[in-house]
Amino acid sequence: MAGVIDYSKVKDTHFYRNIGIIAHVDAGKTTTTERILFFTGRKHKTGEVHEGAAEMDFMDQERERGITIQSAATTAFWELHGQTYRFNIIDTPGHVDFTAEVERSLRVLDGAVVVFDGKMGVEPQSSKVWFQAEKYRVPRMCYINKLDNIGADFYKSYDSINEHLTDKAVPISLPIGIESDFHGLIDLVQFKALIHKDDEGKVIDVVDIPEELKENATTWRNKLIEAAADVDDAVAEKYLDGQEISASELEAAIRAGVLSSKIFPVMAGSSLRNKGVQAMLDNVCRYLPSPHDKYFAKEDPETHEEKVYKDQIPGTDPNTGETITRQLNDTEPFAGLVFKLAVDPHVGNLAFFRVYSGKLQSGTYVYNSTSGGKERVGRILMMHANHREEVKEVRAGDIAAIVGFKDTKTGNTICDENKPIVLEGINFAEPVVRFAIEPKTKSDQEKLSEALAKLVSEDPTFKAETDSETGQVIIAGMGELHLDIKVDILKREYGIEVNVGKPQVAYRETITASGEHRELLKKQSGGAGQYADIAFVLKPLERGEGYKFVDSIKGGSIPREYIPAIDKGIQESITAGPLGGYPVVDVQAEIVDGSYHEVDSNTDTFRTCAYYGFKNAMKACNPVLLEPIMTVTINAPEEYVGACTGYLSSKRGIVKNLLQRGKTKEIIAEAPLSELFGYVSDLRNLTSGTAAPNMEPSHYAEVPKNIMEKVLVDSAK
Ligand code: GDP
Repeated sequence: MAGVIDYSKVKDTHFYRNIGIIAHVDAGKTTTTERILFFTGRKHKTGEVHEGAAEMDFMDQERERGITIQSAATTAFWELHGQTYRFNIIDTPGHVDFTAEVERSLRVLDGAVVVFDGKMGVEPQSSKVWFQAEKYRVPRMCYINKLDNIGADFYKSYDSINEHLTDKAVPISLPIGIESDFHGLIDLVQFKALIHKDDEGKVIDVVDIPEELKENATTWRNKLIEAAADVDDAVAEKYLDGQEISASELEAAIRAGVLSSKIFPVMAGSSLRNKGVQAMLDNVCRYLPSPHDKYFAKEDPETHEEKVYKDQIPGTDPNTGETITRQLNDTEPFAGLVFKLAVDPHVGNLAFFRVYSGKLQSGTYVYNSTSGGKERVGRILMMHANHREEVKEVRAGDIAAIVGFKDTKTGNTICDENKPIVLEGINFAEPVVRFAIEPKTKSDQEKLSEALAKLVSEDPTFKAETDSETGQVIIAGMGELHLDIKVDILKREYGIEVNVGKPQVAYRETITASGEHRELLKKQSGGAGQYADIAFVLKPLERGEGYKFVDSIKGGSIPREYIPAIDKGIQESITAGPLGGYPVVDVQAEIVDGSYHEVDSNTDTFRTCAYYGFKNAMKACNPVLLEPIMTVTINAPEEYVGACTGYLSSKRGIVKNLLQRGKTKEIIAEAPLSELFGYVSDLRNLTSGTAAPNMEPSHYAEVPKNIMEKVLVDSAK
């Protein structure tokens, strides 16, 4: 089928497939990706995850944990019926603590293969990722993996997809044999049997479907035709007329159905045993979108209605605020989106980006329309998991990495300076958990700061700061596991061992009432005096609105040149609120009046006055603490549901939903993070080790008064 191919041979972007392999942890995403690389000829030896040699998991601790944390973009080639296709595979993590990684990958994908464990069927994470992919309008195919495993059941897994994810999934292949006897597929489109002669996937015989399997195969082919008839009138007519439908007609109808997310083809396979992977690659070529087939949606800024675009990407003109579009071809002005930053020990800063329109050459300059700065495109690299090739030019549809960017962040648009466009960015949740860390060896202090700066630049959901009062280094992230992994990276990649403090909740402060306050700074002792006078009106904002500054000074009661200093003073003040020194959010500060002194006023006096004035103003507005609330998902056998819900309610949790997941129950609840430290082991103890809990940040909510007092007493210690 495929050999090693010169990538420049694939010039027509209709033969590009920018895809992701997404799955629940352990469903076999890494193994599947690794097999894809093997069969597409870029890799010569299959390495298995449990042997720690899989190509995509190139970071040590990922290998040990068996989970893929960071996205790596990999280019590979595949040939189908004499046509070479170019795959850019964006690796996506399956673990719940890395939602941001999944989201940013989904943002730049055109299509995805969702891998399921053939024994487990739909698992919590697969449904989560499924619905995330839906949000980004990513067409999907399902791949039911591990059919060689004891207890695997293709049909049951298919049922669970139907039950939990969509009623539009339909098999395009069936397994022949199961568990240790799994040895081939029935291709329902071609209506042929593909018999694997070995476990290496080298010899596959394409033969007539064995007699004893024909009846079942016919039943399922009819279901496939019915699904195709739903999206294709010609197929529907022939079907109703009782006419034969050819493989190519069926294929065309399925493709149309997949592109419009009206059909989700389901395939059978066992990546570990090299079965079904080649067929899956063929099907990626047949059914998943090229860059031209992807739908984009953008809300109209005026009507707030969502408009859908195809073969063009919508964005905003930074000069006029109007919606503009770019055709997805290389004759348009250049526009691309940076979806990941990484620091490579050999080449330095890497910015992974997707080109949506136009071309970009190395050695040129590019405009960052999100930040308004210019960046030099040093080198452009096409990435393989652990080797890279330098290219002179990339064009619409490509995914590559730029070396040499200085100020570009994840989610920024890069484009032609003369034709600027801002594409939709990528939103990241704020960190909710904090650890204090300190190097075990004092002399590592500086090394630690440098390493943390790198980690922060690579991961927008990870923060590191030095507490100005205690001098402690604080790291903050999306969950305990997220931070554990960073600590691990420090040790392995940078050789820095750290002591880790107790996890702390990232509280916030806000106000619950509007109020007014006037702050006067007046010192006239001896020489130069100080004078500033500011009248504030504070107003609570909706959650997530952050800080807003409004200048309503009339008649020059405070001169213009002091206004920015007031804003600055407040911005310094909101980093530590008046209750417990936590950052202040969702407050509008309006400056309504004030006075100044010809000699004793300056920008510094107004800045200082604003700093203290804001804190005092907050005290008059019923300040409260906000705490992160987590969505907790627990999968547990029926008999333990009571123990789990009891535990949750003792933790101020609220059960939101209770679902049947195969033989187990899934409890979906919300609970404050502050109550959830150690919840994994608690729940394991309560359920004899059967519960599988997960959590992720949901939103911030007010801390109840009695608990707030306790938190404030503790934080003052
Ligand atoms: P990921 O967490 O989704 O990336 O899953 P991995 O690819 O790391 O696989 C998890 C485990 O399942 C590993 O021990 C794999 O060897 C195993 N595995 C993956 N695919 C198959 C398969 O097709 N059959 C069997 N029996 N095991 C598999």
